[in-house]
Amino acid sequence: MAIDFQTYDDDNIFAKILRGDLPNKTVYEDDNVLAFHDIAPQAPVHVLVIPKGKYIAHDDFHAKATDAEIVGFWRAVATICDDLGVTAEGHRLIANQGAASGQLVPHFHVHIMAGKPLGPLIAPDS
Ligand code: AMP
Repeated sequence: MAIDFQTYDDDNIFAKILRGDLPNKTVYEDDNVLAFHDIAPQAPVHVLVIPKGKYIAHDDFHAKATDAEIVGFWRAVATICDDLGVTAEGHRLIANQGAASGQLVPHFHVHIMAGKPLGPLIAPDS
């Protein structure tokens, strides 16, 4: 079934994690942000950072979140990279938005990936 990117789905996987209905391996938490290890890591370090507010993707987040939420979110991303020890060695941040990007979970999230050479920015056409 196609993912609805217009209306926030309270039953998306990250909403369930935020409610405590699903477990997660937390690496960082504050009043507005949660970060946890990806369940299917695609690099030695693969952490997901999400706002606690109900935002579908980055357009929704940047349109509707408060300035404090937005600044706090991106500061948290930088702090988490430091805490993971991947700032100096380098890492990649990815935020998928909508169907063409392959976004699977309709709750805004940033992937932090590191720990090996990450290759080209996008996969070659198959
Ligand atoms: P995206 O394609 O950008 O929506 O990425 C969604 C990510 O969520 C994928 O990398 C999944 O492996 C990850 N994921 C799905 N379910 C869980 C879960 N229960 N805990 C942690 N990560 C998850």
